[in-house]
Amino acid sequence: MSDQSQYLKSSKLIATHYGEEYEHYYNAIVPPIFMNSLNVFETVDGYYDFDRRDKHTYCYGRVQNPTVRILEDKMAALEHGAGAMAFASGMAAASTAVLTVCRAGGHVICVRNAYGPLRILLDGYAKDHLGITTTYVDGDRVEEFEEALTENTQLIVLESPSSVVLTLQDIRGVSEAAKKAGAKVYIDNTFCTPIYQQPLDLGADIVMHTASKYIGGHSDVIGGFLIAKDEALFAQLLANRELFGGIAGPMEAWLMIRGLRTMEVRLAQHQETAMAAAQYLEGHPKVRKVNYPGLPSHPQYELMKRQQQGNTGLLSFEIYGTTGDAVKVVERLKLFKIGVSWGGFESLVFVPHARLSPEECAQLRGDQGIIRIHCGLEGAEALIADLEQALSSL
Ligand SMILES: *Cc1c(COP(=O)(O)O)cnc(C)c1O
Repeated sequence: MSDQSQYLKSSKLIATHYGEEYEHYYNAIVPPIFMNSLNVFETVDGYYDFDRRDKHTYCYGRVQNPTVRILEDKMAALEHGAGAMAFASGMAAASTAVLTVCRAGGHVICVRNAYGPLRILLDGYAKDHLGITTTYVDGDRVEEFEEALTENTQLIVLESPSSVVLTLQDIRGVSEAAKKAGAKVYIDNTFCTPIYQQPLDLGADIVMHTASKYIGGHSDVIGGFLIAKDEALFAQLLANRELFGGIAGPMEAWLMIRGLRTMEVRLAQHQETAMAAAQYLEGHPKVRKVNYPGLPSHPQYELMKRQQQGNTGLLSFEIYGTTGDAVKVVERLKLFKIGVSWGGFESLVFVPHARLSPEECAQLRGDQGIIRIHCGLEGAEALIADLEQALSSL
């Protein structure tokens, strides 16, 4: 790679040009998909001379691949980390982080609104196989984490904003408390992406992303990332990625590189549309509550302004009515398609608590009929018209 350090100051230059090694592939403007499972050596010594292996020595695809490397260099630069590693999914990244940082018999503090499958991993596998216990907190106040810390706490799991009720945590405050107690802070930064939030700068130790959302951006790829600030921690995570075998494939890495190039411009549009939809919903007489951190009415708006540079396309709202009424509204929507996931070009809608008990809903601080929407790239006018016709059924 020729000297590209001047690109590091700009997320736009990182996404478009940083990490690209044109001279290694005939100056093609887009890197090839290195669809090889292994690389060969001239001599046996050449293979075993680990000291002379550099960035351009590749050996086996479960360890590293040139297309994956370009993607990782970009993500490390965007998140201001010592390094980034790409995974086959967000959950491959998340489970590698938990199993690297936590030891048998350890303790985790996790926000209640964290991604469901990660909570299942903690409450199931980590507890049953490794005796790891988890304390859940709402996470609105730093004191909740301080009170939950034990001398055995190894990991604090944040997701800010969270992806259903859009709650935030004070990343700097929690990281300071964690440091004093010797615990590592992990944060799922999928909602903001590195364009709108850089948690490592605020003191977090590990940033996780699912690339299946905005980084891919086109609903055609599953992938994930871990980015760490500390070199030694990064090396441990990387060693376990190799052992657990969760590296992203080269085709997926190539799609993620393509997604990253346009992410910043896509996000600006997602944000503009979501803000317009949030304001529309907030003014609607049938809507009881709107959860979007970009709204000044969000209870953590001041914290949002301190630690984020923007918001993206995801929001949720509750209506005056039953869960059945909410389902009716959702099923009347035409442009918003019913489905999980988000972050792509298309608008989506989901009733994430529809099958939860009232107690579980209370814990998660969202109605059984809470409606989550992802505002895609169809434009605010069409999407608000769709919301209008669906809500008129009430
Ligand atoms: C989708 C999602 C994940 C899981 O990512 P996968 O790529 O599906 O494994 C994790 N966290 C959040 C916030 C998500 O939305």
